Amino acid sequence: MRRPPVLASVVVLAFLTASAVPGLLGLPDPNATDLTNQLAAPSWTGDHPLGTDGLGRDVLSRIVHGARYSCLVAAAAVGVAGALGVAAGLASGFAPRPVGAAVMRLADAALGIPIFLVALALAVARGPGIGNVVAVIGALLWAQYARVVSAEVAKVRRLSYVDASRVLGTSTWLVVLRHVLPNVSPTVLTLLASQIGSVILLEASLSFLGAGVPPPAPAWGTLVADGRDFIGTAWWISALPGAAILLVVVGLNSLADWLRERLDPRTRQPAPAAPVAAAGPVPAQDLGPAPAAGPAGDRDPLLDVAGLRVTTAGDRAIPLVDGVSLQVHRGEFVGLIGESGSGKSLTAAAIVRLLPQSLRMTAGRLRLGGSDLLALRSAGLRRLRGGLVGFVFQEHTSSLDPTATVGSHVVEVLTTHCGLSRVAARRRAVELLDRVGIPDARRRMSSYPHQFSGGMGQRVALAAALAGEPELLIADEPTTALDATVQARIIGLLAEVCATSGLAMLLITHDLGIARQACDRVLVMYAGRIVESGRTADVLERPASPYTRALLQALPDLSADRDRPLGSIEGTPPAPGTVSTGCRFAPRCPLVRPVCRDREPPLTGRAGAGQLARCWATDTGGWAA
Ligand code: SF4
Repeated sequence: MRRPPVLASVVVLAFLTASAVPGLLGLPDPNATDLTNQLAAPSWTGDHPLGTDGLGRDVLSRIVHGARYSCLVAAAAVGVAGALGVAAGLASGFAPRPVGAAVMRLADAALGIPIFLVALALAVARGPGIGNVVAVIGALLWAQYARVVSAEVAKVRRLSYVDASRVLGTSTWLVVLRHVLPNVSPTVLTLLASQIGSVILLEASLSFLGAGVPPPAPAWGTLVADGRDFIGTAWWISALPGAAILLVVVGLNSLADWLRERLDPRTRQPAPAAPVAAAGPVPAQDLGPAPAAGPAGDRDPLLDVAGLRVTTAGDRAIPLVDGVSLQVHRGEFVGLIGESGSGKSLTAAAIVRLLPQSLRMTAGRLRLGGSDLLALRSAGLRRLRGGLVGFVFQEHTSSLDPTATVGSHVVEVLTTHCGLSRVAARRRAVELLDRVGIPDARRRMSSYPHQFSGGMGQRVALAAALAGEPELLIADEPTTALDATVQARIIGLLAEVCATSGLAMLLITHDLGIARQACDRVLVMYAGRIVESGRTADVLERPASPYTRALLQALPDLSADRDRPLGSIEGTPPAPGTVSTGCRFAPRCPLVRPVCRDREPPLTGRAGAGQLARCWATDTGGWAA
């Protein structure tokens, strides 16, 4: 972390001191005229170190007293603009869509306004005065904050830790307060600090033109204007206030840069990553215990989804998830597998009602722990999410808020959803971090997420997910960003923790090897549809769908001839909105027949008890239709 810029700090400190206590230096009255001592040149030995102006007023005193006006106008104008702009930027992300869109259109229009000319016109129309200058500048600058905050909010909203917080049932305003504002504050503060410099310049320009702070107040712009007629004979009257403006603006901008670095923990030097074992064969004990078989014949599933459909909003309503049905029983591990873009993660987001505003969902049935999620309003959803579901996302760097310590992530869940006091929550958080294998958990509570390696970060995310004592854990590609050894450890840990706590798990993964290790049952998705489901051993050993078979053939085989090219599935999945009638896999399927292009096959039990496939062909490669 670099140190604060010394020169800039001294300049800004002097500026602020002069603004607060201009009489500190015992300088003469800035408006006292002395017609016997006009245009006196700067002299360190005389009474006027920086000379006098055309009315014999002390230039140094006027510069020092003028700082107060610049500071006052800048702070007030930036405060007004910042408050309006931040509120508008947050509204764009969290208010109902029409309101947010209208606010941002207004901001776009305001950004097109030539600020100086309009400020000048308004200031002239309203007359000079500090209040008018503040109101005019504030009203013109808010749009810049609104745009910046809106962009930051859009970015932060997509991050998994915001979703994670919402999964845990945190209200929108708490999400804004705890996660969005801390993340946008470095940008806002940087803009604020650099805008103070711009506003000082703007105020000086308006005062220079007689439309800012009215005389005889010694505003810096007025001081520069005072020397216009003497620029050839008494340069100091204009040049020295101009130099003061330049120094303060450059100093503020320099401090703004430092402040941004200082406030953003992502720019701090990371601590050494926790040591990891060298890559190699995965020890059997790292895989954890073999997952228990699903409770056969259980008629009361924990999660019961039927006919789930996710589409884009608008008239076209392009389907992205199309008629997905699945059940997860208590204590059961279910895998949702398929290529990227098949709709797995959207299915998980839809289950906990966390889809982006640009998407719409419908379902015939969506029940969790006996509650109808379709009938619940936001408060009920928050309670249910916080109590019943824990979420582990792909990467801890996006699922954990970089501005909060790892301890605070776990403590937040415990205080918000379990009603623990902060002391009890901290104690429990240490236990949970210890439980998921964080060494020296008490000390690491105050570390930041970026100070953890990938595997350790996922352990922290798991501890936060477990803190609310959920019954269902949804893990969305939890090991994708990790190397093979760490992957096995995290999957082993997930399986072990869920098994010992009696949790059910919905594991979303494109990695069939991981699904094979961890899941009792799997569902295979393609182009928004379930194309096969059944017990893991049945589906992955005797796949009924050509798509599942192709996925398995594309798995790298370490025992195979290394010169043989890796298997892959020909072609690409259909883009959303381009699926035609018939089987969606038909353009890529080696077994395709004319019937496949005419009619979409239903999901039916063709391959034995419990195994369903969406294919006109049988699991033996023959044909049923
Ligand atoms: S229905 Fe036809 S095209 Fe579709 S997976 Fe089966 S064989 Fe292939």
